[in-house]
Amino acid sequence: MFDFNDKTAIVTGAGSGIGEAIALELAASGAFVIVSDLDKDACAQVTASILDKGGKAAPFAADVSDANAMEALVGFAEAETGALHLAVNNAGIGGAQAPTGDYPIDAWQQVINVNLNGVFYGLRYQIPAMERAGGGAIVNMASILGSVGFANSSAYVASKHALLGLTKTAAMEYAQKGIRINAVGPAFIQTPLLTNNLSQDMLDGLAGLHPMGRIGTSVEVSALTCFLLSERASFITGSYHLVDGGYTAP
Ligand code: NAP
Repeated sequence: MFDFNDKTAIVTGAGSGIGEAIALELAASGAFVIVSDLDKDACAQVTASILDKGGKAAPFAADVSDANAMEALVGFAEAETGALHLAVNNAGIGGAQAPTGDYPIDAWQQVINVNLNGVFYGLRYQIPAMERAGGGAIVNMASILGSVGFANSSAYVASKHALLGLTKTAAMEYAQKGIRINAVGPAFIQTPLLTNNLSQDMLDGLAGLHPMGRIGTSVEVSALTCFLLSERASFITGSYHLVDGGYTAP
């Protein structure tokens, strides 16, 4: 559906869930995908599955909360393919569940380090690389919880709200330099982030919060993300796009 031939893309958190779906769709549409994740084996597996289908990919294990690792990731993309054109700052964690008055300080710091600082470190090195490439497009993975609250998740909600401010500001700064930067806000999506942490009863309860009566799929998030990265979205920057089955409509 999209044409990403001759484009190089970095996807963080690409070893699982939404990031994996995005990496697969970008590769199926012609991109050379740098598959990045904390988990080296997961990077290798997703890369192998792209190569098996005739796509182009290379693995690079990196922790997004380590600025040096983010610089090295961008350097790897440029060294492998010559230029970086696309990036999806997708890696994220849910963090502890507790009311704000009891929220563990170390859990707060961990969520902010990964979900917010990790995206800043990504942008910090991706943007100069895209300037060198003559332009590009970036999607930062926010959440519906970038615009509404959710009890017992203050660190996650705060990180995703802050991500929208970061996205808008960076987008304004680079709008005339050919780099578009947007955020995507999924509602609850069937991935290991949810299925590893919640019982089936809790998943059913979450489904009922969406007017469509179900939670979403990684492929549905990938479709929006790939659209925003593509030339079809050439006049879209600095904005926040929901894929939420109506969650935020009421
Ligand atoms: P997931 O299945 O857990 O995948 C996230 C991936 O990111 C995992 O492979 C994880 O590795 C990796 N990761 C975690 N910390 C990292 C770090 N410091 N550096 C590099 N990689 C790291 O989760 P998902 O549901 O696909 O979530 C992807 C993004 O979508 C997140 O930003 C999340 O907040 C957002 N989102 C998800 C939902 C949802 O309902 N699923 C809804 C809205 C937004 P490990 O497995 O080794 O930890």
